[in-house]
Amino acid sequence: MGRQAMVAGNWKMNGLPQNNSELLKALAQKDFAQLSCALVVCPPTVFLSQVGNELPAEFKLGAQNVSAQAQGAHTGEVSADMLKSVGCEYGLVGHSERRQMHHESNSDVAEKTLALLQQGITPIVCVGETLSEREADATMTVVLQQLKAVARVLSTEQLAKIIVAYEPVWAIGTGMTATPEQAQQVHASIRGWLREQIGEQSDNITILYGGSVKGSNAAELFAQEDIDGGLIGGASLNADEFFQICQAAG
Ligand code: PGA
Repeated sequence: MGRQAMVAGNWKMNGLPQNNSELLKALAQKDFAQLSCALVVCPPTVFLSQVGNELPAEFKLGAQNVSAQAQGAHTGEVSADMLKSVGCEYGLVGHSERRQMHHESNSDVAEKTLALLQQGITPIVCVGETLSEREADATMTVVLQQLKAVARVLSTEQLAKIIVAYEPVWAIGTGMTATPEQAQQVHASIRGWLREQIGEQSDNITILYGGSVKGSNAAELFAQEDIDGGLIGGASLNADEFFQICQAAG
């Protein structure tokens, strides 16, 4: 398997400078150097520089959001080149909280993905179904609609550079995790679809699972063939728990 395992912590809208420093100090005490998975933290935008400066060497910096626009009259927005200037190498796009609470459409997510790629930032494209969509048997229809919108604006070469995070909306922050089998089924279908788009390069695409991943359930999720690591919300704010999750990714 040529693909890189990864664990990315999404801090969401949590923490002030002192909390950030404490968390980073606690992370620095763990032996992340023994792990081979890629490690990313995505702090709130306003703290990217602070966290970038205090981040243990094993970690890369990621953004939680980006503007699709390059510059100009877009009050409150942050462009991909701004993110790059403070050291971001990764960026989340299409998190369900942004889709649901900030009304981001599939095509908005696609444009943001392109904006990151154009700056050499690796997009972590979040996809996933709601509970009612799962119950209506529409999981793959929804997930593929989300991915197809992204593929539509990218070249094959660009599509081969994305990371996908499958995050069932009903599992995010709820304590309800998809079973390893449920998650694997979706991951395998995503990889199958990617194979149709970009051929064998799909084997190298990292597909993360997200939604109530904890130290206690990470190993069985990450043991699945097509689950290459996790996108971690709540549990990324606790150094012990986060380290345990990262150990499970290897
Ligand atoms: P959670 O969040 O781990 O708190 O469920 C995951 C995410 O939203 O990325």
